[in-house]
Amino acid sequence: MLSLLLLTLSLVSCAPRINKWSKTDLTFSIDNRRSGMTDSDTKKAIHAAFELWSAVTPLTFKEVPSGGDIQFLFASGYHGDAYPFDGKGDDMGDHWENVLFHTFFPEIGAVHFDSDEPWTVDVEREMGKPERSKEDFLNAAIKSVGNALGLSSSITIQMNDKFVPRGTLTKDAIEAIQWIYGAPKN
Ligand SMILES: [Zn+2]
Repeated sequence: MLSLLLLTLSLVSCAPRINKWSKTDLTFSIDNRRSGMTDSDTKKAIHAAFELWSAVTPLTFKEVPSGGDIQFLFASGYHGDAYPFDGKGDDMGDHWENVLFHTFFPEIGAVHFDSDEPWTVDVEREMGKPERSKEDFLNAAIKSVGNALGLSSSITIQMNDKFVPRGTLTKDAIEAIQWIYGAPKN
């Protein structure tokens, strides 16, 4: 299974084709055991992320207990693929090199978050501290879903910009996702 996955990844990276799901009704599942957040907070953020992408495309998303098309997992260090996580950002010295999550393009759709990061859905509570001490899970969820739908991180990284309101998609991201899947029906 792993070798098949890696082969698919390398094909994706060098073949000039669109990464997209061949169906529009997708399922997702969440393994929240190591997130450090409550089940309800994790799910709310992921559901909010899917709602944003669903609102601008013909795509629908439904949560299933396990084995969804898009599978969310919180994991630490080596976790069974070729991309071990690097631990909590601050431990590495350079925050900007810190890997928070990685996503496999369609139609693999796996989304892995680094469970060593201090995730929160409540960034307001974190404001006023000298430096941000926690990672915004909503922002990560929005970007990771975009990647799992086929957008490159050069598009989704723009949502880190301080001028982009929290919990929204950028104009570029909407144009890019609609270029792949089209506008919403109705
Ligand atoms: Zn992984």
